[in-house]
Amino acid sequence: MTKFLLLFCSAVLTLYFKVQTSPSDKNTYDIYALKFGERNNYVQMENEAIGDKSGDSTKVFFMYWLLKGKYNGKIILVDAGFTIDAGVDPKKITFTSPEKTLVGLNIKPEDVTDIIITHPHWDHIGGIDLYPNAMVWMQEEDYNELVEKRKDPEAMGFNKNDIQKVRDRKTKGSITLLKGLRDQVILPAVTVFISGSKHTAGSQYVMANNGKRNVIIASDNCKYYRNVTNMLSSPATSDQKAYIRNLRTMKQYVNGTTDLVIPGHDPLVFTKFKTVAKDVVEIITE
Ligand SMILES: [Zn+2]
Repeated sequence: MTKFLLLFCSAVLTLYFKVQTSPSDKNTYDIYALKFGERNNYVQMENEAIGDKSGDSTKVFFMYWLLKGKYNGKIILVDAGFTIDAGVDPKKITFTSPEKTLVGLNIKPEDVTDIIITHPHWDHIGGIDLYPNAMVWMQEEDYNELVEKRKDPEAMGFNKNDIQKVRDRKTKGSITLLKGLRDQVILPAVTVFISGSKHTAGSQYVMANNGKRNVIIASDNCKYYRNVTNMLSSPATSDQKAYIRNLRTMKQYVNGTTDLVIPGHDPLVFTKFKTVAKDVVEIITE
């Protein structure tokens, strides 16, 4: 009888322990997309998804993403948007400073614990200095491309002002350079994948769980939903076949639910999901 009781108690304890420590419980995230700007013109979809025959056009939104730990206290941005020093032409682009959109979620810039940079183009990295306490995570290959290898810092989507920002962070120790692993858990149950899409040398995407499903923050590894739904490459890559291969991989990670491959610039993100504050949607799934 005593033996039975002991066995019973240990089974209950094991179950309790599992429930308490399951990473899928402890390290799930409220996942949001936040829009802070847009281009004033429309672009033709055939110029964004090679082979598209629809004749559709689309707006280009500028956004970033937020993973708010439900229990673990982490406030993680995926990308940082851009600021006034990007020098955009107001006739072409309308924007507000990206941290202002956080107000709708009652988050202050100093609350942000981490920023994962998908790639260091001006519209994704320029805002890192808005968040004084954040650790920045980026691929070493991308860092080198931005900082060391660029002869013309204004070319191909890079902004020379961003070079000093990442250099300063390296001096201060508030940047972590990732070594190009296929997949790597860098924060609690947050995985980054080097994409091989060749949007930039080391462009990466992020996967986290919203409590029900895995969500992929694809950023410009899938600029529009049309890229992943129709398996069409963006022209913004040096290897279109690799871009498509990576679209396929991301789709597999979300079990074919392409809505959960969140693209880098698509206004549809803000109609597919529930608006929870001005210019903010929560990536919630049934
Ligand atoms: Zn972009």
